[in-house]
Amino acid sequence: PSDIVNVVVVGSGGAGFSAAVAATDAGAKVILIEKEPVIGGNAKLAAGGMNAAWTDQQKAKDIKDSVESMYKDTMKGGRELNDPKLVDVLTSHSKGSVDWMTGMGADLNDVGRMGGASANRSHRPTGGAGVGAHVIQVLYDNALKRDIDMRMNTRGVEVIKDDSGKVEGLLVKGKYKGYYWIKAEAVVMATGGFGRNNERVAKLDPKLKGFISTNQPGATGDGLDVAGNAGAGMTDIQYIQAHPTLSVKGGVMVTEAVRGNGAILVNKEGKRFVNEITTRDKAAAAILNQTGKVAYLIFDDSVRKSLKKIDKYIQLGVVPSAETPEKLGKIEGIDGKALTATIAQYNKLVAAGKDTDFERANLPRALNEGHYYAIEVTPGVHHTMGGVSIDDKAEVLSEDKKVIPGLYGAGEVTGGVHGANRLGGNAISDIITFGRLAGEQAAAYSKK
Ligand code: ADP
Repeated sequence: PSDIVNVVVVGSGGAGFSAAVAATDAGAKVILIEKEPVIGGNAKLAAGGMNAAWTDQQKAKDIKDSVESMYKDTMKGGRELNDPKLVDVLTSHSKGSVDWMTGMGADLNDVGRMGGASANRSHRPTGGAGVGAHVIQVLYDNALKRDIDMRMNTRGVEVIKDDSGKVEGLLVKGKYKGYYWIKAEAVVMATGGFGRNNERVAKLDPKLKGFISTNQPGATGDGLDVAGNAGAGMTDIQYIQAHPTLSVKGGVMVTEAVRGNGAILVNKEGKRFVNEITTRDKAAAAILNQTGKVAYLIFDDSVRKSLKKIDKYIQLGVVPSAETPEKLGKIEGIDGKALTATIAQYNKLVAAGKDTDFERANLPRALNEGHYYAIEVTPGVHHTMGGVSIDDKAEVLSEDKKVIPGLYGAGEVTGGVHGANRLGGNAISDIITFGRLAGEQAAAYSKK
C-alpha cells in the first residue's frame, strides 16, 4: 500500500465529510476521497433544510414538536416501509446533529415547513439561504482545521478484504496517479445515489425513462457496485423519487420551501389541483396528470421576501413576474381570469385558516403583496431511497444480514431510512446523523 490509515471515507458529500470529521475527532487517521474534481456531491445542492425535532431553534420560535411526531411523519411519508430502527436513529439523533453542526459554526436558525411534516422542523441558515452549500462549507472548513487528507479526482474502485472477510483497505484510481491501494481497517461508503444515471434508474423504474434529474454528474451509483462487490446486500433499491418541482426552463430544482413558505401550484387552466405540501410522490403524480405534464408555482412578493433562495431562481431568468395575476397568466400561457379567481379563493381560505378545498395543513400567508411570480415546473429524478443495507450502527450488511467487518455506509448510498419516499429536509438530517455515526463507529472499530 502507498498509504496506511485507520479509516478511508469514500465520497465528499455531507455523509462523507461528517464521517471524516467524526472519525478524526474519535482519534482515527483518515483519508477522504472524491472521484469528482469538486467536493460536496448532491448535498451542496440541497435547498430545503435539515429536519430535526425538539431543537433549541424551534423552542426559540415557540414551535411545538417532538421526536415521536418526526418519527411518525417519516414513517408515513415512506409508506411505513422504512426500517424502524434506522428511523429511530434519524429522529432521536436529529437535535444532537443540529447541535453538532452549530457547534462547528453552522447557522441553522431559520425553521420552515416542508412536505409531509406536521410541524415546522426544517432548519436552515437565517433568511432561508441554501442549507446544503452552507453545511458543506462548515464541514469542509472543519476538515481543513483538522488537517484531514482529502483527495479529489480519486475514485474508490474495490474494497480489499483479508481471507477472513475483514476489510483491509481500498483500491483507488487517481485520475493522474493511476491505481494504488490504501491500507485501512475500515472503509466508509458515502458515495451518494444514482439519480443522474438514467439507465440504472429506468431499469429499476421504467416510468422514469428519459426523465431529467436534479442531481450532480457524479450521482451515478458506482458506489453501489463497489459495496455490492464487497458483499453488501441492497435494501429498497427499486424506490426512486421524482422531485415534483424542477424548473422546466432552468433545469434546476425549485425547493419545496417555496411552497412551504406560501406558494400555490396551479395548472395551465389556472386552477389549484393538489395540496401543495403533500409528500413528493403524491405532488409529482398530480403534476403528471395536468395538461402538458407541467404546473406553475405562483407566489407574490411576501413569499419572495421570506426566502432568500427565491432570488437565485429569479437571477436565472426563469421567473416571470407581473403586477396582476391576469397579466402573469398572459406571459406564461395560463388562463389569467381563472388564476385571478384561484388566488382570490386561496386568500379567502388563508383568512379562514382552513383549506377546505385541498386540506393543505399550513397557510402561512395570503398572496396579495406587490408583484406576482410564476415558475413553470415538472417532476424530475431527485433521490434514490434504496441502496446498501446497513444496521443502526451504520455497519454494512450482507444479503443475509450479516455484518461485513470494517465496512460502513451512510447517506444516499444506503437504503432503509426513507422507505418508499423521502420527506423533504430528511436528507441533510440523514447524512449528518448517519455520516457522523459511521465515522465514530469506524474509528472505534479500527482501534479494537
Ligand atoms: P450524501 O448526500 O449521501 O452525502 P452526495 O451525493 O452528497 O451524497 O455525495 C456523494 C459523493 O460521492 C459525490 O460527490 C460523488 O461524486 C462521490 N462518489 C460517488 N462514487 C464515488 C467513488 N466510487 N469514489 C469516490 N467518490 C465517489
